[in-house]
Amino acid sequence: MIEFTHVYKKYDNTTAAADFTLQIKQGEFVYVVGPSGAGKSTFIKMMYHEERPTSGKIKINEFELDKIKNHEIPYLRRELGVVFQDFKLLPRMTVFENVAYALQVIGKKPAEIKERVEHVLALVGLVNKADSFPSELSGGEQQRISIARAIANKPEIVIADEPTGNLDPGTAEGIMDILERINQQGTTIVMATHNSTIVNERKHRVIEIESGKIVRDQQEGGFSEHE
Ligand code: ADP
Ligand code: ADP
Repeated sequence: MIEFTHVYKKYDNTTAAADFTLQIKQGEFVYVVGPSGAGKSTFIKMMYHEERPTSGKIKINEFELDKIKNHEIPYLRRELGVVFQDFKLLPRMTVFENVAYALQVIGKKPAEIKERVEHVLALVGLVNKADSFPSELSGGEQQRISIARAIANKPEIVIADEPTGNLDPGTAEGIMDILERINQQGTTIVMATHNSTIVNERKHRVIEIESGKIVRDQQEGGFSEHE
């Protein structure tokens, strides 16, 4: 469960979030749409505690982010998988190592790591690329690896900021197939996107932000209000 209560975020002279109050239940699939500069990334960054609100309360599962202690942040992050537009894979590590690394840092045992990495690489269809380096992969393959990394620890929530932003339309559809499959297994997906085709063809809840305000929150919504 993700819960925002009267959340404001102000940077110097910009209000990137004004009075955000909403809930996202476990297992929902939510698109976050709106023009550049609307506040989508800020909204998403506040969920994984990369940005802190100026005021208001955010709750992610059992964590109240205004009260969270530094030593608890790693436990929060274990419940969240994050996927970025630019993948953020480590260039000197193989595909296997990129995914394994996320599990090593939280102290999983090697046998379990091997099993989980193989499992999630199979889920994204890239077992055969385990020994490749990111630079040897297409953009779509790199994004599939970054999704594998995000779900390796079985997070309850996956947050994706423009995950198809750098991909051609066919490749983007493949990424969406994977995100929807993960969602069907019970994982919450929150995805900021500019991709109107995807939002209109694969209907889910839409939260629209404009100039730091939530202007629409619609079940099975389109990319814009009357689609
Ligand atoms: P979006 O993701 O919808 O493009 P952002 O959340 O990145 O929007 O930005 C919302 C507003 O906040 C914009 O006006 C942007 O310039 C501003 N902003 C974002 N991050 C910062 C920052 N670190 N410092 C100052 N202003 C920022
Ligand atoms: P296993 O114990 O074999 O990993 P699970 O019962 O945990 O299997 O999960 C069943 C399927 O759901 C597997 O494909 C697994 O990778 C996937 N899965 C489990 N949790 C998550 C999650 N939080 N995000 C994405 N996929 C998940």
